[in-house]
Amino acid sequence: MKTRRQRAIKRCDDAFSRYIRKRDGNVCFTCGSTMDIQCGHLITRERFATRWDPANAKAQCERCNVLHEESRERFLVKWIRQYSLQRYEDLVAKSWEVTRYSVAEIEDLARKYNDMMREKDAKIAAR
Ligand SMILES: [Zn+2]
Repeated sequence: MKTRRQRAIKRCDDAFSRYIRKRDGNVCFTCGSTMDIQCGHLITRERFATRWDPANAKAQCERCNVLHEESRERFLVKWIRQYSLQRYEDLVAKSWEVTRYSVAEIEDLARKYNDMMREKDAKIAAR
């Protein structure tokens, strides 16, 4: 039996993942594949301060995401090239912040990412 918090986290993870995959056009950031696209995190999801930070996530194919140990370095190098070493250092520092979201805050975040995804859908439909 899941708690209300666990259900909110799952909903937020799902909304965030859909948003990231759409934002990145369902193309793997690491290898360019379009097969089995997931939402890959640069810094582990275990750290909640950056779990739902769009800068910390990229669309990744299942292979690159699941074989994270092998693709980690490529992901990191490409990420730093796209942003900067300073951004990475800032993200790492943020990831270690102690963050205790309330259930209501998590539910708000899930709604935010669902809304952002719908806006992207609307933009695509209007093209
Ligand atoms: Zn890949």
